[in-house]
Amino acid sequence: MEKLKGIGASDGYAIAKAFLLEQPDLSFEEGKVEDADAEIERLTKAIDDSRIEIAKIKVIAQERLSEEEAGVFDAHLQMLDDPEMIATYQQKIKDENLDAQTAVRQTADGFIAIFKAMEDNPYMQERAADIKDVTDRLIAHLIGAKIPNLSLIDDDAIVIAPDLTPSDTAQLNKYVKGFVTDIGGRTSHSAIMARSLEVAAVVGTTSASEAVSDGDLVIVDGFEGEVLINPDQATVDSYKDKAKAYQKQKLEWESLKDADSLTKDGKQFEIVANIGSPKDLPGVHENGAEGVGLYRTEFLYMDSDHFPTEEEQFEAYKEVLESLNGKNVVIRTMDIGGDKKLPYLPLPEELNPFLGYRAIRICLRETDMFRTQLRALLRASAYGKLSIMFPMVATLEEWRQAKALYEEERQKLIDEGVKVADNIQVGIMIEIPAAAVLADQFAKEVDFFSIGTNDLIQYTMAADRMNNNISYLYQPYNPAVLRLINYVIQASHKEGKWTGMCGEVAGDQTAIPLLVGMGLDEFSMSATSILKSRSLMARLDSKECEELAHKAMNEKTSSEEVAEMVHDYVSKLD
Ligand code: PEP
Ligand code: MG
Repeated sequence: MEKLKGIGASDGYAIAKAFLLEQPDLSFEEGKVEDADAEIERLTKAIDDSRIEIAKIKVIAQERLSEEEAGVFDAHLQMLDDPEMIATYQQKIKDENLDAQTAVRQTADGFIAIFKAMEDNPYMQERAADIKDVTDRLIAHLIGAKIPNLSLIDDDAIVIAPDLTPSDTAQLNKYVKGFVTDIGGRTSHSAIMARSLEVAAVVGTTSASEAVSDGDLVIVDGFEGEVLINPDQATVDSYKDKAKAYQKQKLEWESLKDADSLTKDGKQFEIVANIGSPKDLPGVHENGAEGVGLYRTEFLYMDSDHFPTEEEQFEAYKEVLESLNGKNVVIRTMDIGGDKKLPYLPLPEELNPFLGYRAIRICLRETDMFRTQLRALLRASAYGKLSIMFPMVATLEEWRQAKALYEEERQKLIDEGVKVADNIQVGIMIEIPAAAVLADQFAKEVDFFSIGTNDLIQYTMAADRMNNNISYLYQPYNPAVLRLINYVIQASHKEGKWTGMCGEVAGDQTAIPLLVGMGLDEFSMSATSILKSRSLMARLDSKECEELAHKAMNEKTSSEEVAEMVHDYVSKLD
């Protein structure tokens, strides 16, 4: 038995024979043509054929995936028909006498290189994968190669591939129990689709497509990110038991979809979702979120080649608010900088971008951009229950400046006769230790806090969240971090305000008992963690959790000791 390690991209266990997805050979010699017009005609025909094929895949996808996820194929159709790309192909054929496949490959490579260069931006890297997917199909038509058809699988299988394109993933039918790829990460489209199809998936194994042969028996462990090749019978049996237990657990969780988030002794909390775009809404509803606790609006900016206009932003915010139908939606104003860059907003090169010009610091200088976003938010407020929060606030002065700009725009809209909700809450993210320590002062002025632990931990521990060498300092249960979190929660409660948390810690199963003990009001997490967290909460006793949190902050000296104590407590629960 051989074992491969990768990244667990979608929870679940799968045991089945391997279906090795051979990538088609799309290599060709670059060629020249004499009759450019005939070549452009050949190109047009290939584009037409590709369009028909993608439209077919879209129909298959719509049967298995949500409308939004199938929407990736609308994006593919748009890319295929993109006038700028087509004009570039044609120009290369006309001016350089290139054959159509060479023109397409060169053009695509240019765009892919630009997107791939945005190393810190997984979203743009994924767009590079989409361009490759579309142009490979086009090239296949031009050179007469065949793109494999996964929808033909008719027996239980685990698909093994160097990489799975979104079109591959959308063609996975009910016989596909899981998949494994050599490359990819948790945010790749195929990983997102796997979670929504609820098939086990491990990505980024580097070598699965070489290590596995067609027909090998394979176990995929989507939790641990492990792939077992030709396991012995005892191992197969033990994974069958695990799979059964997980199935049972999922059914139990499912029953909590419409339930309140209560502890065993009846204390109520809110479990809400983090989203990056309106595309994430189906997951929000399917997993029983009680609202949205963080809408990262910067993805709207990153997904565009220009500053999104007020109208474009308004439409996106309105869509989310309407879809949540009166449930609270916390929208964060743009958090660019650090690891998030915009191609159309050149920022100065900095030695420490995470300590640099980012988020509210940019918005308070680029006030036109900020005012546009505030106006879009205020206009959208008429369509649901909106809360707005400012990221990376360090000082009361910053908060007051941002709030003043908000008030100005609000007044202007009201004077213009535009409908604006009168119950909008305005708060800040607590991500900087200085703001956490002055939470008592902030609490007098803001409507709420949302703790961004991803940044709060990196600044508290002085450990860059992107630096692997010091990843051991990402210590969510370190008593120093816990004391800051607790202080913020208590300070807000003293002023009758509420505190949420939207960093990864909110959905961390070890942290949840501690946060329940501290009385955190709102837990905001990725949608797929919601039911699991609600289920854990239902087993907790709020008074016991209070003691647990007290001990963690006052008697324990390290993150590990705290984790051990919590695991011990949870293991004894019913
Ligand atoms: C955080 O810092 O915890 C947070 C939620 O913001 P982001 O991860 O987008 O920086
Ligand atoms: Mg942050």
